[in-house]
Amino acid sequence: MNDFRYSYGLKRHILIIDDEEINREILGNMLKNDYEISFADNGAMAYEMLKDHSLKISLILLDLLMPVMDGFEFLEKIKDDESLNAVPVIVMTSEKPAEVRSIKLGADDFIAKPYDSPEVILARCERIIQLYEDKSIITSTEKDHLTGLYTLEFFNEYIRQIDSLDIGKSYDALVLNIEHFHMVNEMFGRKAGDDVLKMLSDLLSDTFKDSFSIGCRPAADYFYFYLDHNDGYDKIVNSVQERLAGFSHIPKIHLRAGVYFDADKSLTPDCRFDHAKFACDRIRGDYSSQVSVYSKESYDADLYHEHLINDIDDAIANKDLTVFYQPKYFIQSDKPVLKSAEALIRWKHPEFGMISPGEFIPLFESNGLIQKLDHYVWEETAKQIKTWKERFGYSVPVSVNVSRIDIYDPELESRLTGLLKEYDLKPSELMLEITESAYSDDAKGLTDVVERLRKIGFKIEMDDFGSGYSSLNMITTLPIDALKMDMKFIRNMNRDEKSLKLVELVLEIAGFLEVPTIAEGVEDADQIEALKKMGCDIVQGYYFSKPVPPNDFEEFIKKELNKH
Ligand code: C2E
Ligand code: MG
Ligand code: MG
Repeated sequence: MNDFRYSYGLKRHILIIDDEEINREILGNMLKNDYEISFADNGAMAYEMLKDHSLKISLILLDLLMPVMDGFEFLEKIKDDESLNAVPVIVMTSEKPAEVRSIKLGADDFIAKPYDSPEVILARCERIIQLYEDKSIITSTEKDHLTGLYTLEFFNEYIRQIDSLDIGKSYDALVLNIEHFHMVNEMFGRKAGDDVLKMLSDLLSDTFKDSFSIGCRPAADYFYFYLDHNDGYDKIVNSVQERLAGFSHIPKIHLRAGVYFDADKSLTPDCRFDHAKFACDRIRGDYSSQVSVYSKESYDADLYHEHLINDIDDAIANKDLTVFYQPKYFIQSDKPVLKSAEALIRWKHPEFGMISPGEFIPLFESNGLIQKLDHYVWEETAKQIKTWKERFGYSVPVSVNVSRIDIYDPELESRLTGLLKEYDLKPSELMLEITESAYSDDAKGLTDVVERLRKIGFKIEMDDFGSGYSSLNMITTLPIDALKMDMKFIRNMNRDEKSLKLVELVLEIAGFLEVPTIAEGVEDADQIEALKKMGCDIVQGYYFSKPVPPNDFEEFIKKELNKH
């Protein structure tokens, strides 16, 4: 026999139940080379032996006429018993009417008395055992042991069958998950965790019992349901959660769900549920939402973000990410003088083309990857400053943007001073821009870091000033070297009085702090003129130039040198 279950010399165990010793002996002798054999004199004794469960019985050979408990009563008893009814029974009889009665009671086969040749009996035993073992393998993979829901493989198969019977009905794909389920396991033990899963599965099956639904537990604490279209999942999930809280002694179980309405049947079942799971996982950790609906737009946006996250290393290695430079000019002289520049990252993606920092900076800020990007920009910038110094004998200080997360990096100082050393720069040549909102988040923590950086000699520019919520009190104590006014004031200053007044106010604050002001986003001559009149020191914007690659920036340096 090729079946792995019959290799390794594993012998199945047969229980022979017969009150006549001679019958027990004949059968025992026929089977003993191939099977382990146990005997019982009557049904009651056999039942006791089976209830003990220490014997793993693969087949019962049952006589019908016995004292104490006969074969019929025994059959009835074990077929009623969930822990025993999976053991096959062959009845040994010589009467036709008894055959009919025992088959009704659940017997699987017959051996006629007097006995046939040993080969026939052996073959019958073997066939029934194998049949039962195959059947149990099928049922064991069809259903999840714990919850009784389908396993993923069968679930998908059933969906395919439903598809093939398509009667134009629409179905929803629903995914449910328990928030922080691992905590239930860790705090209350695995058994309690299992109980919660079982309870939840029962509640869900009960909730959906009045309409079409099939459920599956693909893994751990995820539940999938493919079901008739429904509009009230918020209510349903909430009520299941409440009922669960009523049953379970474990407090605060939070359910979240993702639903893919009218799931597209041209997609594979896996794909339909990937969509619903995506919606479900989008609200992970968000205790204010319970049900999230799949939409193609948010799916595509997430996929796109995922792309960008995956591509960042390649982008750095392949130089798809490069640093552009935008000049800043001092305007309080007769003619504007090139004062410094700002380093701004640019991404030319091989697939998506030019991507704006407005798209990927917030993304990388939210997942911490911004640090990798900033470190790259700082190093490229330091290298560039040195190159220009060597090529032109002229130093253009360049400011780099420092993100919130960089500020709390314990290695920030050593990283920056390391760059100065490596590229032989003075700290005043590599300036640092920190956005105002970072100051308002944690003024004290940030001030400490900034003070240490200034002690080394770095110049700190407060970026986007006016966009955050700094209090006047805080501003007056801030350690900074320049204020960069938020662009929106400049954009509107020649159009509305209020913005103009705000620009004046920022300039006054800067005067009070005795630091220069930089106006960003300056696009036309009117703005320059007005700013100059009001005493603004430095201007950055399209009026002078957009951010440009290093080669193009060299033209500004050359022009500046020609003036001297
Ligand atoms: P930011 O630091 O305030 O940079 C100024 C932004 O204004 C830049 O946008 C610049 O191209 C744009 N800009 C300059 N002049 C004008 C103008 O006259 N008109 C208009 N409409 N826009 C002008 P960009 O390069 O798209 O960068 C956007 C933001 O992304 C930056 O704002 C900065 O917060 C962030 N960013 C850029 N590069 C980096 C970087 O390397 N690291 C970090 N952490 N953030 C960066
Ligand atoms: Mg900036
Ligand atoms: Mg800015």
